Amino acid sequence: MALYRSDAFVLLSAIVFGRPGQSLYYMQSVDIVQALRPLHEDFHLLRCGLYITELIDVATHEREPAPELFALFHQSLEQLSQTADPVLLLRLFELHLLMATGYTPQLLYCARCTSDLQPHACTFSPRFGGLLCSACAATTRQTFTVSPEAIAYLRRAMEGEAAVLPLTPLAAAAQWDLEQLLHAHLTFCLGRELKSYAFLHL
Ligand SMILES: [Zn+2]
Repeated sequence: MALYRSDAFVLLSAIVFGRPGQSLYYMQSVDIVQALRPLHEDFHLLRCGLYITELIDVATHEREPAPELFALFHQSLEQLSQTADPVLLLRLFELHLLMATGYTPQLLYCARCTSDLQPHACTFSPRFGGLLCSACAATTRQTFTVSPEAIAYLRRAMEGEAAVLPLTPLAAAAQWDLEQLLHAHLTFCLGRELKSYAFLHL
């Protein structure tokens, strides 16, 4: 059994015993497998790591194994300690978390009426969870416009087979659009704001 100690980003291998209905465990043994030191030596990386940890925490249930999410969590923290673009890595983590939990943003057809999208459709609705056709965009509240570059990047990332794709550069404006889209979609799905999100922009 492997556990993360989220406050220190240390991968542990532990043997624990517990009983159904009891919240306390008896830990028989614990070994440190991996310590991601860069994450606690750099304040920005630390904040990014805490954000990833909070998202995994809200996306999983206690005592329910989630091997796919654990692999995504582990891989993302490892890449965070090595990447030159931690902000873009967060976006890819958010996207793959949404995909793994059944909340993939709808970019293939209109998220409201399911009709085909126009080639340059760029209106996103958090409420409907995807892009809208021009007719729905004109009659739907609380939408926003996303740049074609950000949408194209998102589509490419969604087609990738790897849990987290190799990072390719993205212009700052498009990266902000990507953040706006994924954050709006995430918070709508969760029904609340992430506590650690505000700390990313300190
Ligand atoms: Zn529509």
